[in-house]
Amino acid sequence: MSKEPIPLVDLKAQHREIAEQVQRGFARVMENTSFILGKDVAEFEAAYARFSGVPHCIGVANGTDALELALRALGVGQGDEVILPANTFIASALAVARAGATPVLVDCDPRYQLMDPDRVRAKLGPRTKALMPVHLFGQMAPMEELEKIAAERRLLLVEDAAQAQGARQQGRPAGSIGSASGTSFYPGKNLGAYGDAGAVLTGSDELARKVRALRNYGSEVKYHHPETGFNSRLDTLQAVVLLAKLERLARWNEARRKAAARYHELLGSIDGVKLPSTLPGNEHIWHLYVVRVPRRDQVLEKLQEQGIGAGIHYPAPLHLQGAFRHLGHRRGAFPVCEAAAGEILSLPMFPEITPEQQARVADALREALG
Ligand SMILES: *Cc1c(COP(=O)(O)O)cnc(C)c1O
Repeated sequence: MSKEPIPLVDLKAQHREIAEQVQRGFARVMENTSFILGKDVAEFEAAYARFSGVPHCIGVANGTDALELALRALGVGQGDEVILPANTFIASALAVARAGATPVLVDCDPRYQLMDPDRVRAKLGPRTKALMPVHLFGQMAPMEELEKIAAERRLLLVEDAAQAQGARQQGRPAGSIGSASGTSFYPGKNLGAYGDAGAVLTGSDELARKVRALRNYGSEVKYHHPETGFNSRLDTLQAVVLLAKLERLARWNEARRKAAARYHELLGSIDGVKLPSTLPGNEHIWHLYVVRVPRRDQVLEKLQEQGIGAGIHYPAPLHLQGAFRHLGHRRGAFPVCEAAAGEILSLPMFPEITPEQQARVADALREALG
């Protein structure tokens, strides 16, 4: 009986599949020494724009920067409020704060744990400048209703698409709906680099031009800097990795969907396990497979004892993080996501996970809950 540990994410199999292509690409970049914004970056940007059905993709240093630069290019800053969910990775809100604006947090809906349009409406005010839905765990927030609110109130819509590369809603790709969107190619994302990387997507020529300048010291013409910019470019070597992985992403996402279906079947009959729900109209790409269980911390510990790399995304909502204490929310402010935070459990999920591994996860979970 194999007792090999099962990691939450296994990046080794993907590397084996692309290793040669990456080696060749790295060798080529080193040979021609165009390390910054080389041809591979432009090629990846074009390919990812096409993949996302958006006219422009601008590669940047990471996902947090992508969101910050998108907000800055849109003119969001000091005095502005940006509404976003309290249950997201901290980077969504850090980007808002770093752009100089104030994050306004909202609770999620109880079923899908996505940004809830009704709760967004309750937070609208004279300073609201933008909505930032997060496409959490691989499925998109309810965009149609959020677009309606944005249109009614003349608000900007900036998608955090870091967990949704290849996801769709009513056929529309993640990242293609807002005025702009930011995504992350952190290694563990569905499309992951071999280090930090990210991108801004937008349909606007003007906005794309602004982001390109912002990521490159605020410059469009070398050594001319009409504005204060950043050094936040997508690394050329990372572009080589991303190009190799992008070719395979649709197939890998399909493998994740199959794995999710298998989990549904294996776990559906276990008492106490609440399966993840997919919002109708969403094509989920299962960045994470998140169930809810009672006595979560004990269950997690038991799984880890069995070598199963389960995790929690995320143990505390943003309003309970020290970094955002100054927003003045107490425990109890967002009861839906607080309750979820105590029950959620992310199970191992990656395209290459085998039915045997999934069966072991299911057995361990049944035992832990028994
Ligand atoms: C990963 C992630 C980010 C940030 O990306 P980095 O590349 O780590 O800066 C932002 N938002 C969400 C929802 C993420 O999961």
